Amino acid sequence: MISGNMLIGQSAVRGEDGVLSAINPATRETIGPDFGAGGIAEIEQACLLAEQACDSYRETTAQQRAQFLEAIASGILALGSTLIERAALESGLPIGRLLMERGRTVSQLRLFAKVVRDGHYLGVTLDSALPARIPARADLRLRKIALGPVAVFGASNFPLAFSVAGGDSAAALAAGCPIVVKAHEAHLGTSELVGRVIQRAVADHQLPEGVFSLLMGDGNLFGQALVSHPAIKAVAFTGSRQGGMALIRTAAQRPEPIPVYAEMSCINPVFLLPHALSMRAGEIGRGFVEAMTMSAGQMCTQPGLVIAVEGQHLDKFCSTALDALGKKTAQTLLTPGIHQAYLEGIEWMGNSEGVTTLGRGCTAESPCAAQATLFATQASSFLRTGRLGDEIFGPSSLIVACKNEDEMLEVAQYLSGQLTATLHLDDADHALARKLLPILERKAGRIVTNGYPNHVEVSHAMVHGGPFPASSDSRSSAVGAGAIDRFLRPVCYQDLPAALMPEALQDGNPSGLWRTLDGTCVSA
Ligand code: NAP
Repeated sequence: MISGNMLIGQSAVRGEDGVLSAINPATRETIGPDFGAGGIAEIEQACLLAEQACDSYRETTAQQRAQFLEAIASGILALGSTLIERAALESGLPIGRLLMERGRTVSQLRLFAKVVRDGHYLGVTLDSALPARIPARADLRLRKIALGPVAVFGASNFPLAFSVAGGDSAAALAAGCPIVVKAHEAHLGTSELVGRVIQRAVADHQLPEGVFSLLMGDGNLFGQALVSHPAIKAVAFTGSRQGGMALIRTAAQRPEPIPVYAEMSCINPVFLLPHALSMRAGEIGRGFVEAMTMSAGQMCTQPGLVIAVEGQHLDKFCSTALDALGKKTAQTLLTPGIHQAYLEGIEWMGNSEGVTTLGRGCTAESPCAAQATLFATQASSFLRTGRLGDEIFGPSSLIVACKNEDEMLEVAQYLSGQLTATLHLDDADHALARKLLPILERKAGRIVTNGYPNHVEVSHAMVHGGPFPASSDSRSSAVGAGAIDRFLRPVCYQDLPAALMPEALQDGNPSGLWRTLDGTCVSA
């Protein structure tokens, strides 16, 4: 069923620029079949098809695009255990986690189908002509249109929900943008299976073939060539800060620079406020270890930092957390490269001045398995040593003990951009929370209270983004209905004759959209 081919429009194309192999990280054995790596010719072919598809795809009706997205969702479900088993083999992720991830992938596609039907995303805004005013005002009508072909980089840590048909792809397709996906090398077979579903949905819905291509390529130059292609108008990426920054540089150096929506690194700080800590140190400690080790810590929302005031309650938190940690089995990481980076990260952290290794989980007994590790330091060391706030991708966290509340605020001020910031608090902590909130609002895209940040709800109000280095553009979200905005731009039509007016902007509102008319939101 898996051929090892790329999917370019409606063709299956065997790459001839080398051979790529999927690897089972649990055994480090290769998994067949081999995949042919593509080169510049295949990038050219996919991007040209995407460019040709662009105008007709972006003018498909809401119903057509919504049905297309729903067909992809159904097709993914129809793959059943074939998809889940292949993804488990390639990623080392447990079946249960992958079933949840598939559910999320499907719900993202269905959410965007709803968003497209609903039409709010078009931002339709009409300013009536004022011919008698001096100076006269023209008739002005705004709608948002698709940016153009988007290059999507599959993420290693979400083989389904942030890869071929993941959140970035769903948002771009919903916006009316063709996509050219670069499969992540960690899950080539999973990518092909999902890619075939999209390819079939394109054909079944009589869409232009260039709406979707799936490329597989070896090395940094391949991804950079894709981002450099003049047909590509935006990039979506989840991965390392180094990779994201390289793509941002490539995009900025093009004759026509384009936006790169890169979700990169962060450590999702968790603040334990004094009263809550005094009342629930044990409960919070146990919950924290679950959050820290969930999916082997390979989540962009993994809490990698705890900040609290030192004393007996923080000691209780630490001892409960260590008890829980000691029972945590070592879980397989996604790739040998990620495993190696984790080992280097925890070695570096453990040897850093002022840092103590508090405790570890069960010993790793298979290749690529990671022993969870908890470190501790004083706020003074954290504030002195910039790199202690860097992400270690995997199941590790650092506890920062502060002398008092002022030092806690100082640590908050010192943090770089984050996807999330979490507060454990009670009513008696509100005074401190009022001081922390304005700082954390500047640092993070989502503020979580009395919980953990791992789960990212796919909904309308979700924000999955944040200031650098969490993401490259803090104005946007990579999850939730708002993610579509990344792939749209506004166009204003001034005095356009009625006969040429796009339907969304026509008098009488034939599409029945919510529109802003002379500054007031109206539904008809
Ligand atoms: P990655 O190395 O950033 O790779 C992600 C994608 O970007 C791959 O397709 C890769 O292709 C491409 N890429 C990377 N560097 C590039 C460059 N300089 N130029 C062009 N393309 C480039 O991420 P990864 O493989 O998923 O994991 C490596 C590390 O990234 C992890 O150890 C972790 O630190 C971090 N990571 C963080 C998150 C998060 O959510 N915070 C998620 C995943 C990974 P090629 O390999 O073919 O170049």
